[in-house]
Amino acid sequence: MGRHRQHKPRRSRGGSEQPVTGESATEWFGTAFHSTTGMQHLDVRQSGNGILITSAPAEVDGMLAGWPLRIRNDDDGQGLTELGTALASGQPHGIVVENGPGYERVLMFIPNHPEQAVGTLARIRAENGPDGAIVFERRAERPMALWAEAGQNLRRIVPLLGPDAPPADEPEESTPCPGCYRPVYESSPSGTLIGAGPLPVIGLCRPCVNGTTLRSLRQADVPLDAQQRAVLESVAAVLV
Ligand SMILES: [Zn+2]
Repeated sequence: MGRHRQHKPRRSRGGSEQPVTGESATEWFGTAFHSTTGMQHLDVRQSGNGILITSAPAEVDGMLAGWPLRIRNDDDGQGLTELGTALASGQPHGIVVENGPGYERVLMFIPNHPEQAVGTLARIRAENGPDGAIVFERRAERPMALWAEAGQNLRRIVPLLGPDAPPADEPEESTPCPGCYRPVYESSPSGTLIGAGPLPVIGLCRPCVNGTTLRSLRQADVPLDAQQRAVLESVAAVLV
C-alpha cells in the first residue's frame, strides 16, 4: 500500500468549532485549531483562470509543508464547481489529473474518516492493475466544517473566473505569515508591525495583525512554537 498509513483516532477540540475565516471577492481562508497539530490553514483563491487551494501545513512527500494546488479551469467551471459541491456537501470526489504510462495521478476528496469529523484532500499516484501500488503524495486533513466552507467559497469564486483572466500556469508565490504560518499571497493584504520589538515584523496576515489569531489561540489551547508565540506577543503589546 505504498506510504499510505492508517489514521490514528484523534480529536479536534477547543476552538475548532469556530474557525477563523476571512474572505474577499476572489479569496477565502479559514483556520482550524487542532489540539495536537496546532493551526491548520486552508486558503482558496482565484489564480488566473483557475483556482488555487493551499493547505498549510499538509503532508507533502512525507514532510509537513504548504501544499499549493492549482486547478485549471478548462471546462467553463464545471469541474471546479463539482469539486466545490463535493467539499460543501461532504461527498467523496475524484479527479484524474494525469494519465501516465502504467499509472494515473488522482486528486481525491475523502470525507469523514470513521469516528472523526475530518476529511482528507489527497493527491494519489495509483499504478494500474489489481496489485498496483497506491501512494499518497500529498495529503491535507481538515475538519469537515472547514472543507464545507472552502467548497462553498470555491463555488462562489468560480463564476468570477472570466475567460479574460490570464492562464497563470505557475501558482502565485506565497510566504508564511510569521505569526501563524498561514500562506500570505501578494494579492492578499498583509501588515508590517513596527515598534513592538527589536525588529519590524513583516508580512503578517490580517487575523494576526488585528489580534484574532492570538484571541483564538488563547481560547483553543493549541500548540504553538516559540517563534510564533514571540511574534504574536509582540503584536499584542502594540494592540494594548
Ligand atoms: Zn498570521
